Amino acid sequence: MASKGTKAPAIGIDLGTTYSCVAVWQNNRVEIIPNDQGNRLTPSCVAFTEDGRLFGDVAMNQTNMNPTNTVFAIKRLIGRRFSETSVQNDIKHWAFKVIAGPKDRPKIVVNCRGVEKQFSTEEISSMILLKMKEIAEAYLECTIKNVALTNAVITVPAYFNHSQRQATKNAGVIAGLNVLRIMDEPTAAAIAYGFDKIAVETNEKNVLVFDLGGGTFDVSLLSIGHGKFMVKATAGDTHLGGEDFDDRLVDHCIREFQRKYHKDMTRNARSLRRLRTACERAKRNLSFSPRATIELDYLYDGIDFSSTISQGQFEELNKDLFARCMDLIEKCLGDAKIDKAKVDTVVLVGGSTRIPKIQQLLQDLFNGKELSKGVHPDEAVAYGAAIQAANLNGEVDKEVKDLVLVDVTPLSLGVDKHDERMMTFVVPRNTPIPTKKWCLRQTAYDNQTSALILIYEGESADSQYNNLLGEFTLDGIEPASKGVSKFDVCFDIDADGILTVSAEVRSSGHKKQIVISKQNGDLTLEEIQTMVEQAARYKAEDEKHKERISLEDLAEMLKSKAIDPGRSASEMKTMKEAGENAIAWLETNHLAEIGEINKQLKELKTTFPALCDEN
Ligand code: AMP
Repeated sequence: MASKGTKAPAIGIDLGTTYSCVAVWQNNRVEIIPNDQGNRLTPSCVAFTEDGRLFGDVAMNQTNMNPTNTVFAIKRLIGRRFSETSVQNDIKHWAFKVIAGPKDRPKIVVNCRGVEKQFSTEEISSMILLKMKEIAEAYLECTIKNVALTNAVITVPAYFNHSQRQATKNAGVIAGLNVLRIMDEPTAAAIAYGFDKIAVETNEKNVLVFDLGGGTFDVSLLSIGHGKFMVKATAGDTHLGGEDFDDRLVDHCIREFQRKYHKDMTRNARSLRRLRTACERAKRNLSFSPRATIELDYLYDGIDFSSTISQGQFEELNKDLFARCMDLIEKCLGDAKIDKAKVDTVVLVGGSTRIPKIQQLLQDLFNGKELSKGVHPDEAVAYGAAIQAANLNGEVDKEVKDLVLVDVTPLSLGVDKHDERMMTFVVPRNTPIPTKKWCLRQTAYDNQTSALILIYEGESADSQYNNLLGEFTLDGIEPASKGVSKFDVCFDIDADGILTVSAEVRSSGHKKQIVISKQNGDLTLEEIQTMVEQAARYKAEDEKHKERISLEDLAEMLKSKAIDPGRSASEMKTMKEAGENAIAWLETNHLAEIGEINKQLKELKTTFPALCDEN
């Protein structure tokens, strides 16, 4: 057994839209960690119930009974604004309530133990991350070994913008993790693919990673070889994946139901949730069979619903979405300046790559090339993240120590030109990081003494359509005619993708700078700290509630077993009284601390050891 102070390994977490996966580098290899149910994937789902919070499989399994308090697909909301079209469209398909919070950020409204609560997307994501952390802690026996597991690499879609990345990082902090790096999912998958080949590979190979998951689509082109993983270009859509294919199928069934029965079920949360679950199952079946049936008894207004869908119909419903994936591949290849004939391997990652039509379109695009299915589509991202985590955690194994990874900026970065809503691009998208780039600016009017520097991320020439990352005012410009005074704006991005923007007046040397990673997240450090404390409180409340239920269950058992005629009268009386006393104690001690409840529980167990064993 390791002694106190033993260093805990770092974990890699693939925080997916539908499922999450956690892995660790141990015993010279990556181990995918099974959850408490023995599953290697855990639904990214949190449910709020009368008895507190539920996570993963248990949360997912009670969705149909508790649709308005079961939260999933939070990755579709994180780092986004409530007013965004994609958010508004998603909300229509979900049974849980989402409202506009401060700064136009979405807030999730749920009822937990009879009390209405509002959570930020970071808080909900942190609950999933905490669950993944606990899965790893149990597997690695952290409590027994007395080590604290905190270091982690969390993956995000390559096309996530700065605000989505920062919000994910904040979620990690709220979950009590020290986030070593926010890593791009296709890059992690490429490591999973190339890790065992890189040492022996002498020729550089172009590998295209096609990553189509539950909610997002990414495509990255990497060159692998000479001991290096180098991202050449990346493209994608943070709102394109399996959930969209489910939506199309759900809408199709709603239309069919309306046509057949002239009834609109769209306002019934339970019907919608049941239909969605059935559609997702049918979609999966369609990957392996030409037809699938959706059958739901009493779906809405007492009406049973049955519908058969063919592979062809499913493909027609999603034709434009599949085509968009192919267009984005062309964009990625164009950015990388690599002809598709020069792509050596196409690696499939993400659950939705099991769809036969997707595979066929891909093969057609690459002139019949065999697609590589050598990595596990659901586990590759966590696998690669675990290797990167071990590398950043300073593990000494040669394989991970020598890992060299060169990433790129997924989106262009720039400043507003003379506050005219025109974007001056400073760092073009797909620039390898770390990097440092400058642009020269000049005053826009006579006697200008200060300049507002607005920093944007995005591809539009009109800066209002891009994502505003931050702003600051540069003072100390000497009054002169328009265009005479000059200042340099410098964009400095480190290996973590953290951007520092500085501006310096040429004549006076007056300088100002802003670190985007700290300032741009909508949450201040104080707010994050409050959420960290709240997360600990929720956890303690859940544990306390569990302990109360255990005591209540034991008390009820004593009362029911006391009636056994095989027992003596005095034994029956003692048991009945002990049960009743425990129930009375619970009723009068609503605010009792977990330690006090535990004491009552232990006392009962010690008094009636045989009974507890029987149970
Ligand atoms: P991931 O985010 O990679 O875990 O992918 C999850 C998505 O893959 C979900 O939308 C699933 O419905 C989808 N998926 C999993 N298996 C299949 C399958 N056999 N056919 C189609 N989609 C699938």
